[in-house]
Amino acid sequence: MNKKDMLDGLSGPDYATYAPCRLCPRDCGVNRLAGEIGACGETAVCAIASAEPHFGEEPGLSGTGGSGTIFFRGCSCGCFFCQNYQISREGVGTPVSPETLYQLAQGLIARGVHNLNFVTGDHFWPHLAALARRLREEDQAIPLLLNTSGYVRPERVSDYARWMDIFLPDYKYADADLAFVCMGDRRYPETAMAALREMVSHKGFLFPFAVNDRMPTAREGVLVRHLILPGHIENSLAALRRLRDEFGPRLPISVMSQYRPVPACRSRGEFARRISREEYDRVRTEVEKLEFEHVYLQEFEPDDAFFPDFERKAPFEGNRRQDA
Ligand code: SF4
Repeated sequence: MNKKDMLDGLSGPDYATYAPCRLCPRDCGVNRLAGEIGACGETAVCAIASAEPHFGEEPGLSGTGGSGTIFFRGCSCGCFFCQNYQISREGVGTPVSPETLYQLAQGLIARGVHNLNFVTGDHFWPHLAALARRLREEDQAIPLLLNTSGYVRPERVSDYARWMDIFLPDYKYADADLAFVCMGDRRYPETAMAALREMVSHKGFLFPFAVNDRMPTAREGVLVRHLILPGHIENSLAALRRLRDEFGPRLPISVMSQYRPVPACRSRGEFARRISREEYDRVRTEVEKLEFEHVYLQEFEPDDAFFPDFERKAPFEGNRRQDA
């Protein structure tokens, strides 16, 4: 099917919000149904780069059967150091129709995943909502998870919450100047925080956080991620303090040390290296000082097998190991 046919197939109210598109804070107003491209890099033709059981998420999401990840092409946040830069910024991915997306979701469910994990799919929300509606109409109860940069319009969260069970947002920047340097919008700290408040008000905190034999993976709620950036530890400390002030010590958080410099980081000063042991220790000490009760903290040197190469059919070596 060519691109025009795929766009023509997106009729009806489910897809009307693509034209004009104001799905995210970029507020482009372009007509994606007519093939126009927004700041996310995408028309209304949904494109994905991978759909497979993923074992590199937090234990409460991956469990033993894996998290059913579908990685979407494009991104409205667009950080230059993006660890998934091949799909978020370089256009690696394959167009899929709503029917193909549905079949991929069903294929993951058949493989025994614990949830469907839509990775950076916000800019394809109309497709996700249509998929979720269809699954629920068929009484499919698997938890649906919106895995997002946090760069979300707060007023859209109630719509997301109608269909999604788990929110997995980043809180990347507490420093507005750093946000501007990395993704071009000083509003990120406040916009993302307002969206987080909405997510928590709709779904509460991730439950269960401490999974067990009876409930081996999470069913509902919010888990906030933060990636430590080299040379910008004050941003991490401020983000953690802000989260603690807003939501208290019971907010589930996941602090990630997995940053790896990608090609766009070569001429970007400290972004061209990994985080140091000293930086990692400072963040870990702050997490302890703030007395967060539900914390996933990656080891200082996490497994590189979960650093993806989306040019490969199976992008994560770590997932191939699990399948073997
Ligand atoms: S989703 Fe894409 S086109 Fe729509 S407002 Fe955001 S960046 Fe613009």
